[in-house]
Order: sequence, then structure tokens, then C-alpha cells
Amino acid sequence: MKAAFIVAPRKIEIRDIEMPTITDDDMLVKIEACGVCTSDMAGYLDTHSEEVRKQRPFPRRVGHEPAGTVVEVGKNVKGFKEGDRVTGIFGMGNFAEYAAFNPLGGPEQMRQPMLGKIPDGIPMEHAIGEPMMCLMSIARTANPELGDYVFQIGCGFMGLGVIAGVSHPKLREYIVCDLEDWRLDMAKQLGATITLNPSKVDVVEEVMKITGGKGVDVAIEVVGHPIGLKTAGAVIKGDRGKMIVVGWHQAPDTYELMSWIKSPIIYSPQGIGMSTDPESELPRALWAIQSGIYPMDKLVTHKYKLEDVGKAFEDNLGRTPGYIKGVVMPFL
Ligand SMILES: [Zn+2]
Repeated sequence: MKAAFIVAPRKIEIRDIEMPTITDDDMLVKIEACGVCTSDMAGYLDTHSEEVRKQRPFPRRVGHEPAGTVVEVGKNVKGFKEGDRVTGIFGMGNFAEYAAFNPLGGPEQMRQPMLGKIPDGIPMEHAIGEPMMCLMSIARTANPELGDYVFQIGCGFMGLGVIAGVSHPKLREYIVCDLEDWRLDMAKQLGATITLNPSKVDVVEEVMKITGGKGVDVAIEVVGHPIGLKTAGAVIKGDRGKMIVVGWHQAPDTYELMSWIKSPIIYSPQGIGMSTDPESELPRALWAIQSGIYPMDKLVTHKYKLEDVGKAFEDNLGRTPGYIKGVVMPFL
């Protein structure tokens, strides 16, 4: 089978490797789609911390947002059969044609609930359970109250998905910021009420003006860089403020603690395995895709063949106009 390997910074090779063999406890899944995630970029650019780079030397495989079809089932596996369409977490390295794993979990494996059956009618490229489960977790954690001011920094794929899940008409304002005006337009379509472009306005000043100098009730950081956390810290209000850290921060930085001890409650709703309640949140996410709450046709903008993983990664890095989410489809 074919699999993508990162062999050096910004260099991908598609290699022919042995098909994985399955034991009686395993199943084999044909991977038909795997989302490109901004968190894959650290492995691609080799910008992880020294420690992580040692644990994951070149050549390394990435890809953790798979969807596919079960093609073989070990005799001890219960609950799945050949032909089932599944998504969730199959382990790492899913920019490949197949993956074998134990759906019940093992020392190196994820637990069974990290795997869900894809409802009929959802195409594979939209059935990327892992990030959607994560978005569901964020929506349930942020859960703003009636009359809240919500502020969000970052309107990439995850940011837009957060808006789709969190916004509702009973919020006072849903203020978002991003450097790209076209992303801000999409944010508005999905439920944001005020959009700010930090290249044109002073975001902190604007948010303080909008909230009468009080700051926001809920600040959601979906950037993954220090500027996101610093801006969220600057606009969160004192009492009962809630800060939601969505960004996948992969490098250390220095923060002014004073901006966070005004008493906000800080949540990182992703936990280990991208959800704090996967048994519930994976099926919820698939329901939300099916019901159109997550408008996957708008959010998944690019499809790539396996040979084009490198192009997919470059598009992700380059914030190609119109690019929100790329999905690699090995059997496209
Ligand atoms: Zn991801």
C-alpha cells in the first residue's frame, strides 16, 4: 500500500510499504479521506520542541482525521463488520491507503468510543470525525449564556466550526477577528455579528468600546499562537469571565499572568484525544454534520490525491485564498 512520509522539513515522499496485517483483535480500514490539520504542520516544518522531535524522528507519518470503510475484521472484533463506514481516531499516520488497529483499544491504541459509524448520506470527505468531535467538545464547553458578549480570535476551519456550533440568537454580540476579510465574511454567514480585522483596527480597543469597557463574557482563542492568548486575556472581563483555549499551542512562550487573574475560568476543551467526552461527542458531531449545523460543504474546500499531500500541506500553510480545509483522499 502507499503511505506518505515526511522525510525532511517540508519534504514528503509517497512510499510503497507492506499492507498492515491484522490479528484476531484488529480490523483493517481502507482510508478514503483524511483531513489536513494545522497541527500536522509542526511535524511537516519540524518546528516541534526538541523533546517531541526526538520521539518522532524522520521519516515521520502524520494524519489523524481519517474516515474510511472496514475491509477486514478479526474474529474477536465485535460491533463492526466489513463494509461499515467509520470515522474517529485510528491512531496516527493516516495519510495512507489503509490502517489496521484494535477497535477495542490496547496499550498503544485509542478506546473503542473513538470510532463511530458514519450516518448514511454523509460523503467521506465530510465525515472527518476527529476535528468535528473536537468542535463539539468546544461548543459544549464554551456554551455562552443568554445576553453574553462572546469574542473569538481566529476564523480558520476550526474557528469557523466553533462559530457554527456556538453562535445563537440569544447572545448580545458574537465578535470575531481574523486577518482575512473573506474569512470574516464566512464568519458572519455562520453567526458572528461583529467582525474585526486586526490589520485595520485595534481589536482590543474595539472590543472594549463595544462592551462599554467591561470586556467579554466568553473569549475563545482559535489561533494556536501567543497573540491569540494575549488578545483573549486582554478582552476577557473580570468576574465570571470564561476563556476557551482551542489553539493547539506547540511552543512555549511568556505570558503576563496579570491579564488572567482577573478571575476568568480557563478551559481547554480538547483533552487527550481531542474531546473530553468522546463517547458522546463523536455521535453528536456526526449528527451535527448530518443536520447541517456544521456546513461541511462550505468548510471542506479542497480535495487532494495521496500523491499531493505536499501540495495540501503547502496550501494549508500558505492560507491560499478560498482554502479553509483540505482533505486527502487516497482513492480519489
Ligand atoms: Zn486535527
